[in-house]
Amino acid sequence: MVKAKIGLEIHGYLNTSEKLFCSCKAIHGAKLTKPNTNICPICTGQPGAKPMPPNKEAIDKIIQIALLLGCKVNEKIYWQRKHYNWPDLPKGYQDTISGAYSVPNGVDGNFLGIRIKECHLEEDPAAWNPETGEIDYNRSGLPLVEIVTEPDFETSEQVVDWLRKLIHTLSYVKALDKSAGIKCDVNVSLPSKKGARVEIKNVNSIKNIQKAIDYEVSRQEKEVPKKQETRAFSSGKTILMRLKENAEDYRFLTDPDLPVIKIDKKRIRKIKENLPETPLEKLDKLIKKYKIEKKYAEILVKDLAIAEFFENIIDKTEPSLAVRWVVIELRNVLNYNKKELEDVEISEKHFVELLDLIMNKKITELKAKEILRKWIPKSFSPSKEVSGKIVQDEDKISNLIDEVLRENKKAVEDYKNGEEKAINFLIGQVMRKTQNMADYSIVRSLLIKKLK
Ligand code: ZN
Ligand code: MN
Repeated sequence: MVKAKIGLEIHGYLNTSEKLFCSCKAIHGAKLTKPNTNICPICTGQPGAKPMPPNKEAIDKIIQIALLLGCKVNEKIYWQRKHYNWPDLPKGYQDTISGAYSVPNGVDGNFLGIRIKECHLEEDPAAWNPETGEIDYNRSGLPLVEIVTEPDFETSEQVVDWLRKLIHTLSYVKALDKSAGIKCDVNVSLPSKKGARVEIKNVNSIKNIQKAIDYEVSRQEKEVPKKQETRAFSSGKTILMRLKENAEDYRFLTDPDLPVIKIDKKRIRKIKENLPETPLEKLDKLIKKYKIEKKYAEILVKDLAIAEFFENIIDKTEPSLAVRWVVIELRNVLNYNKKELEDVEISEKHFVELLDLIMNKKITELKAKEILRKWIPKSFSPSKEVSGKIVQDEDKISNLIDEVLRENKKAVEDYKNGEEKAINFLIGQVMRKTQNMADYSIVRSLLIKKLK
């Protein structure tokens, strides 16, 4: 594949509790399905409605993001009106900290080897369906971050890998709402062909971003663009929207309804000092401080809730048992139920109690798994599920095995004919007779002995 020159403008939703200039809730995407149920005169641009002072939380988050991206943080915020006339923009302009005369929130950064030109805060327009004419203002006025990279990428694979890491890092520090998705404008050119720069607007998932770049690179190899152009991505192809003769005229002007905000050095320093751990830092800590095997640590950091759960129990129990039970058993049960840890109420105290019972041989691991499965959606103290102790009495187990062998002649025959899996069935039958409380290894070795 030829080397391309690729740059990104990424829009993502900030994780805040309210919209940018009103007190409507900041609810994203799938969580709010009924149109126009989260609106007020401000975010629908009613005549005479004036914005409230901008959301402090959103400003803190944009500073966090700027710092994480290694940007220099500018200390003054001048809101700009960016004018354009679409039905999704009731005021006739979008309030943003970008544009001809503005000073972006962060400039000149670098994230994992890709230079960041700038990042800034802005408000989201409404959602407009050009086919039906319907407009949904639920997302109008939500705080967005826009991150602009230099054209430092050469392949679509590199873009995808970097974007995944960016989204993971920003959602990890709770700056970005990962579930709300991202939108990207992607610019692509082929320096080896001396082609002009082509911008693909509003590509809305990582998968589509990869497809759009791949399509555009092979298209530009065949028909080298002579003039800058803007294209749209639709059904696997990019389609010409317009040729870019000059810069678009958005008639930027400073919004007189919004105050200039000064961010003092102290506020920036405080945010910097309180920056949460990034996934890489957490990975490093799990390996060095808790001596977790790298392959398990990598799984743990993929999900912040799981990683934090693990960190909260690690000092209260046996580390190697905890790793296995969080990384494998807990995740298995969640996956099986198609739930995230945040969706269920599994208390750390109950989990530690469960591991204690295993360590003290009060229950078998099989029994513990059975209890864990019952903890969806809410955990309870495992002690009340424990009636006795693990059955380790060989005579008792031996009698139970004899019973099982008598009752399951077919499985016994299968095993003797070389079907090794049959033994698992037989072990399962013995375990069942003890409510999963027999010592698994004793059952297994006695059973093998008897079958010979
Ligand atoms: Zn509102
Ligand atoms: Mn933008």
